[in-house]
Amino acid sequence: MAREQLSLYDTTLRDGAQTHGVDFSLEDKLLIAEQLDGLGIDYVEAGYPGANPTDTKLFGEKRKLGTKLTAFGMTKRPGRSISNDPGFQALLAAEADAICLVGKTWDFHVDVALGITLDENLAGIKESVAAVVASGREALLDCEHFFDGYKANPDYALSCAKAGYEAGARWVVLCDTNGGTLPEEIEAIVTEVVKQVPGDHLGIHVHNDTDNGVANSLAAVRAGARQIQGTLNGLGERCGNANLTSIIPTLMLKTDYAERYETKVTPQKLATLTHASRILDELLNRAPNRHAAYVGESAFAHKGGIHVSAVQKDPRTYEHVPPDSVGNVRRLLISDQGGRSNIMAQLERIGIAVPKDDPRVARLLEVVKEREAVGYAYEAAEASFELLARRLLGNVPQFFDVDSFRVMVERRHNALGELVTISEATVKARINGETVMSVGEGNGPVNALDNALRKDLGPYQCFIDDLKLVDYKVRILTGGTDAVTRVLVESRDGEGRRWFTVGVSPNIVDASFEALLDSINYKLIRDGAPAP
Ligand SMILES: [Zn+2]
Repeated sequence: MAREQLSLYDTTLRDGAQTHGVDFSLEDKLLIAEQLDGLGIDYVEAGYPGANPTDTKLFGEKRKLGTKLTAFGMTKRPGRSISNDPGFQALLAAEADAICLVGKTWDFHVDVALGITLDENLAGIKESVAAVVASGREALLDCEHFFDGYKANPDYALSCAKAGYEAGARWVVLCDTNGGTLPEEIEAIVTEVVKQVPGDHLGIHVHNDTDNGVANSLAAVRAGARQIQGTLNGLGERCGNANLTSIIPTLMLKTDYAERYETKVTPQKLATLTHASRILDELLNRAPNRHAAYVGESAFAHKGGIHVSAVQKDPRTYEHVPPDSVGNVRRLLISDQGGRSNIMAQLERIGIAVPKDDPRVARLLEVVKEREAVGYAYEAAEASFELLARRLLGNVPQFFDVDSFRVMVERRHNALGELVTISEATVKARINGETVMSVGEGNGPVNALDNALRKDLGPYQCFIDDLKLVDYKVRILTGGTDAVTRVLVESRDGEGRRWFTVGVSPNIVDASFEALLDSINYKLIRDGAPAP
């Protein structure tokens, strides 16, 4: 039997960005969009052009992605024509494949929040969707508060959804904006809506305020909706959005859904899910939820003699799906198997081929474990992991040595009488037996060190001329007796390739320096710089 296609729509970068304490940089957004693209997500809603500089810039140029990059915005402002609505114009100017408009569908909101008549609101929805369609872009209509609206005034809520569909929206998305609707209500209401708007044009967008975000999304699919909107790790304001990190494996690994539906996520892509989930956490400077379904560190951890021995006989005794199907690993307290397969997966991802029983793999695992215990994290910092692995597995040339560095931070009044803080760094390096001393200035100690270190690397200078430090994240870890600092540095070269490196130390400058050194060494190796 042919399976029905489900469309997956990710809004981590827009709705997820509403989360308390979350602030994505442009670089973060591009990196996450790439991850989602790699995962096989159909639509990536990346922001709200015109609403803030980051999103305006993101949509300011065409991005090379397979997924449909989607801009989010409001339907036109009441009482204005579309040509006279700057917000709407910013949306139409966006380099986006699709535009998702949010429109009000709850009579109470139209009345109280907008203060216009129900008919005016309906006309605004039609006109706005039609304008997107006329611009040659795919249109989606987010029906805000649809379920609350339906309960208050079903005819009106339905007429809004129908208006969007008839005006040409590819998807009409039913939103449980306040997140309080329960699965049985969702299923019953969607069943009614499908009679008016075909299910293969209906989407579901729910929030998790009763912890039913996943259940509500699945309920809508059962009732006929064919697009699911959600976020990675369930990121989102209040209690979060529907969690795609749980929904996707459920659709693929649970027979009832797997037999009936398919998405663009292949089994190979599903195996990158845990990695994508962890990268998001690292970019957000958050500790991953170890108890997260499917991708959490504890999701396939077994403790206690009976469980462990049963799992070793047959994993199905205590596991509902195989951990490697989602890129996770089994953790048994009595063996290193989990860690070893984790390392093997990482090596494979970066293209290092080595037999599984090679004793150096065990050694690498040991070193990684030791380093993780003192604060290193390699999920995002793949360049540092690669360096570490190559050092242990093969031979990484020692391009240069840093004998010492010194950083000075001075706060003083300048000639104009303004209070300024400047940093100056001196780095003493040895290259091919020659000692080179470089001085750099910067607005902070790390910037000054970076400038000094990269001022003169002799024969290697030409390899790092196009290296740019684009982002820098600091996390204070307070695990043991003393706080340590973990620094994640993101670098980019002239061709737009990006890589991440990590450094850890009780001293923030030291940790940063380590990450900077890794970044330079990684670039030299990748670009085939000759050994001294
Ligand atoms: Zn939402």
